[in-house]
Amino acid sequence: MIQSPAFAQKIIRWYTENKRPLPWRETTDPYKIWLSEIILQQTRVAQGLPYYERFVNAYPTVAKLAAAPQQNVLRLWQGLGYYSRARNLHTCAKQIVETYNGIFPNTFNELQKLPGVGPYTAAAIASIAFKESVAVVDGNVYRVLARVFGIEIDTASTEGKKYFFEKANQLVPAKDPDLFNQAMMEFGALHCLPQNPKCDECIFSSACVARKHELQNVLPIKSKKTKIKKRYFYYFDIRFKNKRLMKQRTAKDIWQGLYDFYLIEKKRPANSAGLRQEEMSIVAPYLPSKLPAPLKHVLSHQQLFIHFIPMELKSDKEFSVAAKKLALQVYSKKEVEQIPKPVVIEKYVKAQE
Ligand code: SF4
Repeated sequence: MIQSPAFAQKIIRWYTENKRPLPWRETTDPYKIWLSEIILQQTRVAQGLPYYERFVNAYPTVAKLAAAPQQNVLRLWQGLGYYSRARNLHTCAKQIVETYNGIFPNTFNELQKLPGVGPYTAAAIASIAFKESVAVVDGNVYRVLARVFGIEIDTASTEGKKYFFEKANQLVPAKDPDLFNQAMMEFGALHCLPQNPKCDECIFSSACVARKHELQNVLPIKSKKTKIKKRYFYYFDIRFKNKRLMKQRTAKDIWQGLYDFYLIEKKRPANSAGLRQEEMSIVAPYLPSKLPAPLKHVLSHQQLFIHFIPMELKSDKEFSVAAKKLALQVYSKKEVEQIPKPVVIEKYVKAQE
């Protein structure tokens, strides 16, 4: 079995020769490292990069981010999904300013007290910005470790998480924890790929247990399957001339803080007659007898079937009454453009122009 110093040396050398030039790799500013880590959670580098640049330009310091209205932060985040990350980002920035005087805490343990900062992000900031010898463990790291060392413990189990964290921490060198952690993640992302890993040209080809026993398709083991929930959304796009009725989503649910239309949600597909029974007598006459076809929108653990039902009301008075009865606000065309919206709504609004 390959020993810790040799493993670390090999992977760091591989990293220095193969890494992608990315802006957050050129800095030790904890703010920028934190920003990149939050943006890159559940997001590919190619998709996250322009968002990172937009955030750094709009908010070059944590104090600037903390001082921004939440709505602006959500608007800049729009399209990245998992909006709780954006809300946490903002809350965390405020906390750093209020509790820590605008200076990032500099240890793994202290960093984990921040909102939205779990062990993974805390380890990334602590090692990259402050050179603390603590291992980052993400999906890439699980894969590399499970394959090279032939670890058959379920990565989704508590026992597995603990085991992999300890294993990674045995390997992380005291001298270059920053390079080591980035090397592990980059190696998993570019070389030891989930499908078709590049075993024939691999620095670990002679030591790798998965290669020796042809277990690349078996390791890492991840058992937990999350059930996909289906939701049926009926959105009423209530309009009068250039104005629309919308509302902010305040419940603890997807898209919290973003704006959408009046919504009726069903557990099963509904038809026009079914929707008429809801509390919406004011707009019921505008329901078409046949609903427009749904649009399928896939999130990580949910499938949404979204019907957009445009309703152009006949008078300003009727429009105001609808706003009041359905607890909606009036937005001009320009305001609709500016408020943060789920991407499906953004696309729908654009298609209507
Ligand atoms: S030999 Fe193959 S499975 Fe093993 S570390 Fe290299 S790329 Fe991954």
